[in-house]
Amino acid sequence: MKLSTGIVRRVDELGRIVIPIEMRNALDIAQKDPVEISMEGSSIILRKYENRCVFCGALRPAIRFNGKLMCKKCLEKINEQTKNEK
Ligand SMILES: [Zn+2]
Repeated sequence: MKLSTGIVRRVDELGRIVIPIEMRNALDIAQKDPVEISMEGSSIILRKYENRCVFCGALRPAIRFNGKLMCKKCLEKINEQTKNEK
């Protein structure tokens, strides 16, 4: 969902921007909650940090590999693909 709000905020001297309270409330982002920052083209995306599969974004992935989390479905897909490549 893309929602254009027309809200413009200025970056302060430390590079900080205040996230509008309405957005924090809508996404249940409270004080001290971790927020993940990523880039997509020329956009900066803020997302409430939750443990997610690095491949599909599924919540509560069960498998940790090299410090990254992935879900069982993605592991199965990888297994399937590497089988076919042999
Ligand atoms: Zn996955």
